[in-house]
Amino acid sequence: MNPRNRRQTVTTVFDGRTHHVALCRGEQDGLPVFGWGEAPSTLLTRSQLRAVGLRPNGQDPVALLVFRHHRPYARETTAELFSVELAAAYRPPTPAQLSALDRAMEARRTCVDCAGIQDYCVPTSTRQCWTCFDLEQGDRAGVAA
Ligand SMILES: [Zn+2]
Repeated sequence: MNPRNRRQTVTTVFDGRTHHVALCRGEQDGLPVFGWGEAPSTLLTRSQLRAVGLRPNGQDPVALLVFRHHRPYARETTAELFSVELAAAYRPPTPAQLSALDRAMEARRTCVDCAGIQDYCVPTSTRQCWTCFDLEQGDRAGVAA
C-alpha cells in the first residue's frame, strides 16, 4: 500500500517556539503521527537528536514518526519525535563518570582467582579468566579420573 494514499488529517504541533500546521496520519496516544519526511523539520527522533549532539532534555514527545526499517527488518516502527527547540546539547560524560566506567569495566575484566586483568570481560557466571577456568576444569577431570 502506498502510504501517500492514506487519509491524512490536519494537525497543529507546537515545537516549543512555533505552532506548525501539518498533515498527519491521525493520532496515537494523543500525539499526531507522521510518516517519514512528513513531520515538521524542527521535530527529530531521539537518535536524530543524538546525531547532531542534542538530547530531549526531559521534554515529552510532541509527535510520533512511523517508518519502515530497511533490511533486514522491513517492519513498521514508531519513534517519538522531540522538539529541537526544547532539546539541549548532549553533555559528554564527566571525568568522574568516565573513571567510574573504567573501574566498572576493569572489574568485569578481572579474574577472581588470579586477580589478573584480562583484555576481555570474564564470564559473569564464573568470574574467572579462561586460563583459570581451564585449570579448574582440568583439576576436576583429574579428580574424576
Ligand atoms: Zn585467572
